Amino acid sequence: ATILAIESSCDETSASICKDGKILSNIIATQAVHEKYGGVVPELASRAHQQNIIPVVVEAILAAKVSKKDIEAVAFTRGPGLLGSLLVGTSFAKGFALALNVPLIEINHMHAHILAHFIDDPKPAFPFLCLTVSGGHTQIILVKDYFDIEIVGETTDDAAGEAFDKTAKILGLPYPGGPLVDKQARLGNPHAFNFPEPQIPGLNFSFSGLKTSILYFVRDHKKLDPDFVQNNMTDICASVQYRIVTILLNKLKKAAKQYNISHVAIAGGVSANSGLRDLLTETAAKENWQIYIPAFEYCTDNAAMIAIAGYYKYIHGDFVGQDVSPLARMDF
Ligand code: ATP
Ligand code: MG
Ligand code: FE
Repeated sequence: ATILAIESSCDETSASICKDGKILSNIIATQAVHEKYGGVVPELASRAHQQNIIPVVVEAILAAKVSKKDIEAVAFTRGPGLLGSLLVGTSFAKGFALALNVPLIEINHMHAHILAHFIDDPKPAFPFLCLTVSGGHTQIILVKDYFDIEIVGETTDDAAGEAFDKTAKILGLPYPGGPLVDKQARLGNPHAFNFPEPQIPGLNFSFSGLKTSILYFVRDHKKLDPDFVQNNMTDICASVQYRIVTILLNKLKKAAKQYNISHVAIAGGVSANSGLRDLLTETAAKENWQIYIPAFEYCTDNAAMIAIAGYYKYIHGDFVGQDVSPLARMDF
């Protein structure tokens, strides 16, 4: 089946066409308007989605070399995310499906981040563990089947992506800072400074303490040397990244032991991080894990992951009616 997929949960407007589980196009419009505010401004995001959605869908259809009447279903992100942003994608998907008289498929954005692993080969074998790390979430998921998944650990406060973005903000780097911290970190010494690892029971995470310790660290050093941050940027970024990544990997190791699973995946925007990818690869060699790392374009928000999730729902005939509405918070 040929499926059109729409993603609009945050600040990326994206459309993708997938045919029988193969991605034919994946067009992403990133919104630059938020940069000067140091974070996503919800009202501006919805307006940008409204401007972008039609050109992005048109481009996705053209790039896939299909015609509008080939489309047999429309999949869309129902949640979680910013309500105004989700409303644009949801309304567009409903209108499009109604006009073409084809079924609608609702997709959970976090579920799609995981199913992005089924776009390319090799595809993970069930059961596997997926560390989903993004701007709003940090979860360890036990994936038993495409639609049989269980959260076995999650953050009790900030998400890993937020920890990266807030670190960047403290260091005076622009938004979104995660990729910039990564870039600086590659040039620095990860053991230059020691940031504490929080002691959180079980498989849960906490990143708010780390944020506070970075804030005090910078404040105290600046008192002695006003240029401390500028002069030590690469080492600070490398040390913070090292701590975030070791917090993630230590819990992942614990989960793998607890569930006796050696198939391990990472997903979400932070899975693009070079430090995380490197340490996962290193850990896999020591622990004898089979690991799955998504292609860069499928880490951060994109509609291809919505399309692939839509494909598996299409096979199951799992459709929704025109009365569906978006959800800012949405469980699996
Ligand atoms: P969610 O998926 O939880 O709703 P989101 O959709 O905003 O949140 P994603 O697009 O999946 O999140 O990921 C964006 C996050 O990933 C941002 O916090 C960004 O800083 C972070 N990120 C992206 N690339 C990197 C990188 N190379 N290193 C560290 N963080 C990164
Ligand atoms: Mg984004
Ligand atoms: Fe996301």
